[in-house]
Amino acid sequence: MTGLSDSFQRPIDYLRISVTDRCNLRCRYCMPAEGIRLMPHADILSYEEIYDVAATAAGLGINKIRITGGEPLVRIGLPELVRMLVQLDCMDDISLTTNGTLLAYYAAELKSAGLRRVNVSLDTLKPDKFKQITRGSRLDEVQKGIEVARSAGLNPLKINVVVMPGVNDDELLDFAARTVHDGWHIRFIEHMPFGENTPSSPFIPLTEIKQRLAALGELEPCSVRGNGPAKYFRLPQAKGTIGFITPVSEHFCFHCNRLRLTADGKLRPCLLSEEEIDLRQPLRNGISSTELKSLIEKAVARKPLRHRLADGRVPQGRPFSQVGG
Ligand code: SAM
Ligand code: SF4
Repeated sequence: MTGLSDSFQRPIDYLRISVTDRCNLRCRYCMPAEGIRLMPHADILSYEEIYDVAATAAGLGINKIRITGGEPLVRIGLPELVRMLVQLDCMDDISLTTNGTLLAYYAAELKSAGLRRVNVSLDTLKPDKFKQITRGSRLDEVQKGIEVARSAGLNPLKINVVVMPGVNDDELLDFAARTVHDGWHIRFIEHMPFGENTPSSPFIPLTEIKQRLAALGELEPCSVRGNGPAKYFRLPQAKGTIGFITPVSEHFCFHCNRLRLTADGKLRPCLLSEEEIDLRQPLRNGISSTELKSLIEKAVARKPLRHRLADGRVPQGRPFSQVGG
């Protein structure tokens, strides 16, 4: 096996799999209040179909998988999919991104199924604001999920914080302090424009966030296990770390190593471009593994060099929750 690389010689070894477009929250930056038009159940790949794609991709050199959504834990039997995926040879890492609301129930089962670690999305530490951002959900459920998952050994558990000026940027220091006092691994993510959810106010540049965090001490560069584009730092005496993900201000496309599989079976070469290659129909028509390999290779070959947000090219098709963010 020589591994996959795209037309710009970037090695591609990471597959993000969206297992559902359903979600039990309605985060304001991700979904409209009334939700989205849901995919019919019949259009959603079965776990066996997802496994077939993952196994073929693994044969081509994919060795890291992240399960995402929608909210992956609303899909029944998710630990079973984890159990199937961990059987794949050469798989270095299987992880999950979740809103954390159901994590307290599933953490132990996910761990024993073979999941290594989780990322939890949490944009505020204030219960009222949490309700407002998610349109009605409870912060204590997510906090409990985080604690249960850490105790179950799903580590390093990373907290994803989408920074929204005027909404939660007053909490940057509170989040950062958790890296010192509770050993949390926090990642501040720039709010990306996506379809109708284009932010009304500009994002806060990384340099400014860093300046604000200087009130807590000097940030030392460090590294954390993971497959993504975050740049990590540590405050003095902190067990946890602070990561920055800057898709808008400092894009990391030149190091992109990923493909995405949508819940309805499309391979998406780039989150921020709308091109997709259908695998569902070929899979249901009994495609051979050689043909499936060719479709995966075709998707890799179609990866664009970089996104074009700076030129105002914002994806307008599917919402973020459908392409597995
Ligand atoms: N439901 C799960 C969750 O919230 O973690 C997984 C799916 S969610 C689409 C994946 C990630 O995308 C979350 O961390 C969420 O905060 C992030 N996200 C959604 N919309 C975003 C946007 N417009 N800009 C930046 N991140 C976004
Ligand atoms: Fe659901 Fe995650 Fe989107 Fe929030 S960010 S609405 S939890 S899919």
